[in-house]
Amino acid sequence: MSKEPIQYQASCMDDYDPSSMDAAVAQKHILDSVQAIEDVETVTIRNALGRILASPISSELDVPGHTNSAMDGYAVRSDDLPSAGTQRLKVIGTAFAGRPFTSAVAEQECVRIMTGAVMPLGSDSVVMQEHVQREEDEILIDDQQQAGQNVRLAGEDIAKGDFVFQSGRRLSPADIGLLASLGIAEVCVIRKLKVAFFSTGDELVSIGQPLASGQIYDSNRYTLWSMLSELNIEVIDLGVVRDAPELVEQAFKEAAAKADVILTSGGVSVGEADFVKETLASLGQVNFWKVAMKPGRPLAFGQVEQAYFFGLPGNPVSVMVTFYIFVQAAIEKMMGGEPRPRIRLQARCKNQLRKRAGRVEYQRGVFEVDADGVYSVSKTGAQGSGILRSMSDANCFIFLPMESEGVAADAMVEIWPFDSFR
Ligand code: AMP
Ligand code: MG
Repeated sequence: MSKEPIQYQASCMDDYDPSSMDAAVAQKHILDSVQAIEDVETVTIRNALGRILASPISSELDVPGHTNSAMDGYAVRSDDLPSAGTQRLKVIGTAFAGRPFTSAVAEQECVRIMTGAVMPLGSDSVVMQEHVQREEDEILIDDQQQAGQNVRLAGEDIAKGDFVFQSGRRLSPADIGLLASLGIAEVCVIRKLKVAFFSTGDELVSIGQPLASGQIYDSNRYTLWSMLSELNIEVIDLGVVRDAPELVEQAFKEAAAKADVILTSGGVSVGEADFVKETLASLGQVNFWKVAMKPGRPLAFGQVEQAYFFGLPGNPVSVMVTFYIFVQAAIEKMMGGEPRPRIRLQARCKNQLRKRAGRVEYQRGVFEVDADGVYSVSKTGAQGSGILRSMSDANCFIFLPMESEGVAADAMVEIWPFDSFR
């Protein structure tokens, strides 16, 4: 049995529309329209991962706080390092990390020292333990050592007063550690963006309920919830809304009262757009576009009361593609962060890909690194916009530009790894 129904293959042949909007134009319009939120809150650094800094950070400490050893070995005076032959030094004590040796090192003396231990007074170089010959309480060192070696200087990572982070920075795990190394327990960040979403459609049933004839489970709300959850925002699930004007209007009002952004899925295709259009006419300013892309052609964008509104198509793959292509960057801008560079790679395409000119396509693929170090990609089965499996099996989009008329097997294509959206 064929996995791809014949009706689907026929229906995707006729969706080319020369009056469609260029995806890049839609993207730019959306990005230019949205504004960053400015409200701030203070959070502990454990709650600051992925959040956007609202005020710059500078250091009130030297990091490291003391000049210390980078190796296990012997702290010596550089004047005692021999330029030729060997030198004998007396070991007068031991310095541990957190337990300094408190006396000074005099001429021809040294101190056994551990990594991270404060350099004893008078010493300025560390000879690795592997490079000395120990004889009871003396060591012999050779002429291969450099003055100042194996020592980490106070403030060499960050000096007191140094500027550390600009506001607008999206905090990474390393940033959180760096803040901790400066003794900073709390930071001021932009408050979480609030995104409310609901699904529209009389055919939709929430999971946990039995399916009657013609009904399907509402998967989009779960996909959207998951994609939103990866963005460090407040996610507000408003459920399934039936295709009835008063219910849809009520849902929009509730969403606008609670959130900065409203996302819906379904109800923006040609057959249904009028219905949502009417509902929104009294609540805001919304454009309905046919975007020259596949999947994801119908898209609505505008404002409903004070909230930005994205009306995504109903088909499960279209929801994901339009979210990643149009919504995510806009959300990131609204969150107040700097734009994130997306990773784009060239890969050898293992399959022949069919496509017609006049629209961009985001086919789904699995990329890997071949033995010759070159990336290769294969497409994931049937590419219908309702076939969520094509996304689930994939680890990248295969991006085919407007003018492309298909790809021959072994030709190079551009891939967009899903990890670059995370
Ligand atoms: P629509 O844009 O509302 O015409 O929906 C297009 C297609 O997507 C239809 O086959 C719908 O049944 C399907 N669809 C709409 N919303 C959802 C949803 N929340 N979960 C799964 N499929 C959906
Ligand atoms: Mg619908």
